[in-house]
Amino acid sequence: MTILATPTRRRRRPHVKSRRARQAQAEQNRRVTDQILQAGTALAAAAAAAATVTQAQLTDAELQAWRQDLEARLATVQQHPEQNLGFIEEQIALGAREPLRLLAQRGAQAKANATPCGCPQCQTELVNQKYLSRQIDSRFGQWVVFRRYGWCSPCEVWHFPADYALGLAQHAPASPYVQEVAALLVSKMPPEQAVLVAERFGLKLSRCLLHREAHRQGLKAEAARAASLAQLDTWEDLQQLAGATEGPPAQPFTLVIQIDAWNIRERDAWGQTEALRAQGQPLSRWHWVYVGTVFRLDHRGQTAGDRAVISQRRYAVTRLGVEALIRQLYREAIDCGLGQTNEVLVIADGAVWIWNAVHDRFPDARQRLDLYHADQHLWTVAHELYGPGTPEAAQWVRPLLQQIRKDQTPALIKTLQELQPGLDQALHKKVQTQIEYFESHQNRMHYRQIIQARKAVAKGTATPAQHLKANEPLGSGAIESTCRQYQCRFKRTGQFWTMPGDEALMCLETFWRNGRWHELYPHVKLTSPSLN
Ligand SMILES: [Zn+2]
Repeated sequence: MTILATPTRRRRRPHVKSRRARQAQAEQNRRVTDQILQAGTALAAAAAAAATVTQAQLTDAELQAWRQDLEARLATVQQHPEQNLGFIEEQIALGAREPLRLLAQRGAQAKANATPCGCPQCQTELVNQKYLSRQIDSRFGQWVVFRRYGWCSPCEVWHFPADYALGLAQHAPASPYVQEVAALLVSKMPPEQAVLVAERFGLKLSRCLLHREAHRQGLKAEAARAASLAQLDTWEDLQQLAGATEGPPAQPFTLVIQIDAWNIRERDAWGQTEALRAQGQPLSRWHWVYVGTVFRLDHRGQTAGDRAVISQRRYAVTRLGVEALIRQLYREAIDCGLGQTNEVLVIADGAVWIWNAVHDRFPDARQRLDLYHADQHLWTVAHELYGPGTPEAAQWVRPLLQQIRKDQTPALIKTLQELQPGLDQALHKKVQTQIEYFESHQNRMHYRQIIQARKAVAKGTATPAQHLKANEPLGSGAIESTCRQYQCRFKRTGQFWTMPGDEALMCLETFWRNGRWHELYPHVKLTSPSLN
């Protein structure tokens, strides 16, 4: 019997099992259908309710609940001996969160409802109009907005006109404020830190959202930059640009441009390192980031402690090459008054690419080699001759440093040439390199007038012309400090970038520094009246 029973069970068991499974499946289907129907009904009801919203308002009951909640929260703080104003601030913010979230949701809904359902390109009214909800991550938390959408027959595309009106991007839940916060935080600090900082300001945003959104915002900034640069390409746009800047200035001014570069570490071929190495392909990790700044000399001054400050300046920063930098810098220079200036002064170190690029784009510019780089080249010779840090090296270099400051570069070159016969071959070659450096830059080495003017200012005997001259920078310190500031974000230990990633974030940071943040986030004007 057992022998018989077993095969019977064996035959029946899968049968029973499959029947039960079918029943379970049917039950599951019924449940899912019920859920969909319920959700559909709920959604339809919510959509219908949303469609009637015309104003962002709280009901009396909601206001009453808010007041009661707030009173209870504050009472708790009052009774607690150790809770200070910080607790009051936190409790008010926590209590206001829900009413503010509701207000934001209703405000957005009212705006969505008031938006005509037409094609943003051809203005045709959309057909097949329906409602669809989407989730938003806003300043005040998450909520859902319903908006109409429809089909544009001429353009053959579905449109959600309310999304454009609200400033929402496709497939990204961030509200414009959250877009801005992501851009601001992630261009200043790594996303894992940004999550925690945002949380302290009452914004619960994931690392993933911050990272993705900041990158998207960076691409938006790059597009805005490209549009601004495109104005350089047509005669009409250029005329408009020149017209947009104010009329002739009350006094002539000099436009100062400083250029430099630093390098960033990128992981070019993710996951292919070993394979590429095996093929003997060189892997370059370090790439140049080109940096420039432009400002009017009359916007440069001194603090009480004699530190140089520049009240208004523009920046150009890019990974896209020297040409890209010079083009961006030229665009910024126009905004700084390139059309009205009586001269341009370029200050940089000895890098050949800089001077070639300057020659092309600013052919009439006065050129200056950064004084401190010139000094360093002399110190290099001194250390080679007498050993690094020796008193002999210092003694030898001192009169030569003075020659640089007195614009006696030919005499300096002669001194170095006279040294050469007594040197061994290796040292001879090193000194020759420095001679060539000074020869190629001697037309850029004019410091004497500035130093004299500064002395006259200190003595109180300066003429008006000397006052102007004294304000001219001797070196490219302004751009070098800019490089360091960018490096604080982009050159942290263990950091690897990708080119699209770093360029996008650096573009955002540069919009911020150039005072152009409101071009990306127009709502900023509301809280920064100076931008209006
Ligand atoms: Zn259309």
